[in-house]
Amino acid sequence: MKKVCTPYSAGGLDLRPLSNINAAMMLHLCWKFLLSNDQWAIMCRARFLKHGFLIRTAICSSIWHGIKPYYEEVIRSSVWIFGTGDKILYWRDNWLGTPLVEILNIPIAVHKLLNTKVVEMINNFSWIIPNDIAALDPQLVTKIKNIIIPRQPYEDLLVWKDSKDGLLTSKQAYQHVFPAPTAPFLPFQLWYDYISSSHSFVVWLCFHNKMPTDENLRKRGCVVVSICVLCMADCESAAHLFLFCPFTVQLCNWLGDLFGVIFATTDYASLFASFSQAWSTQVHCIALAAIIHTFHTIWMARNVIRFNNASITLHAAKMKIRTTVAEGYTAALKMSLILWKSTTIYWINANTDGSVVEHSVACGCVFRDHMANFLGGFATKIPYSIVLHAELMAIILALEMAQGMVTPLD
Ligand SMILES: [Zn+2]
Repeated sequence: MKKVCTPYSAGGLDLRPLSNINAAMMLHLCWKFLLSNDQWAIMCRARFLKHGFLIRTAICSSIWHGIKPYYEEVIRSSVWIFGTGDKILYWRDNWLGTPLVEILNIPIAVHKLLNTKVVEMINNFSWIIPNDIAALDPQLVTKIKNIIIPRQPYEDLLVWKDSKDGLLTSKQAYQHVFPAPTAPFLPFQLWYDYISSSHSFVVWLCFHNKMPTDENLRKRGCVVVSICVLCMADCESAAHLFLFCPFTVQLCNWLGDLFGVIFATTDYASLFASFSQAWSTQVHCIALAAIIHTFHTIWMARNVIRFNNASITLHAAKMKIRTTVAEGYTAALKMSLILWKSTTIYWINANTDGSVVEHSVACGCVFRDHMANFLGGFATKIPYSIVLHAELMAIILALEMAQGMVTPLD
């Protein structure tokens, strides 16, 4: 439950229990209850709040008992943006970053008497500062005076502190009530759009030792005769099937030759840690896809041999892995059509471009003649961080390359 219901980024399956979703929706509804100007919210505020406090009498309501536990949490996580000031309580509401009653350590017993609205502390677009505040905290006076009083009658806004636009979405409400664990279960991300989820799921089950191999079936009480159908030389366990079986080792060696590394088949973490740090992001993604598809291919091979009495050769497994990687990556690539405009006869066209993807910056150029014949080109990584630098660098390098391509006339 704990592993399955954590987000993908933390190594789980991102499933959400209905009870958790309900709790998050209650927080979200409480937020709307305080913020919204809809009739239902105005009516509920009039019914459930009295001078900014929750009423203490018993109420027959189908929603109030659900949102009431989140009232304090919403108040703590929100801050008022000052407009006209007619909705904000001067002493008790959080419109300065911290409520004044907390800054001035005013006893709780007195809070219910402090019902002054912010608008009442403004006279002719200037602040009325009580003498008590000026005497206690001169810095606070400066802070209040620095708040600009709008000349237009803007509405007071309650904004969510942890939100970029101040609004609370259902997703943010869920993340607030049930934050993702900081320590992920898996050392890497498993779910990508270029890898089928069913294939990644095999690896996920392996990491959590939940594959229905003979070893695990025995643990659950099933009496089975166990043998690895791929090598017929040992009992079937997840570790043997996906790490130690000669069939698996040969596949990993073949992949290692293709990628120029040695894939360690001592344990799952070591296998995925065998990736070279020198690889580009694309090679890293392809290697990850290849390993994940290898796991899936081994499991499928085991199943068809065991249940369909078929036979799987090493070559067939290799071809399946190769095809699946290619198909997945091609389908996920976002390619855009560019119409190439031919140049004047005998002229050479240089098409340059720069690209910034996360922290990777690169530029390139292609030289073609008027018949669109490829004459040369380059693609290189550059240590700049913005796309303008990348575009300019592409032009500079293209000019240098063009200079080298021109044959001086005698
Ligand atoms: Zn085996």
